[in-house]
Amino acid sequence: MSFFRKLFSGGNPLLPKASDASDPNAWWLYVQCNKCGAPLAIRIDLRNDISTDYETGGRFLRKEIMDSTCFQLMYAEARFDGNGNVVEQTIERGKFLTRQDYEAAAAAFQAKKNRE
Ligand SMILES: [Zn+2]
Repeated sequence: MSFFRKLFSGGNPLLPKASDASDPNAWWLYVQCNKCGAPLAIRIDLRNDISTDYETGGRFLRKEIMDSTCFQLMYAEARFDGNGNVVEQTIERGKFLTRQDYEAAAAAFQAKKNRE
């Protein structure tokens, strides 16, 4: 279906699903700084942070992220298809984590800080 027919027939590209039912407007992104190893959970507001790509009919996210340990700036990008699924994601100066990996990394990072 052409983009314009989709647009006028109300076929707007879907947003990614909220990560948590308790926060229906949020999609959580988990990253780790590749300089100091600080893991970060970033709340992405589905209403404000996600843009529409009129060429592909999908959505995309561009996010600047800075951790509070080494203050390195990371740039994350994610592309979503018309159903709100992540089809591509890239990050500079860091790496993506799953929620589980983030929780483990956050616990280890905190334990290391406590030992210092
Ligand atoms: Zn860092």
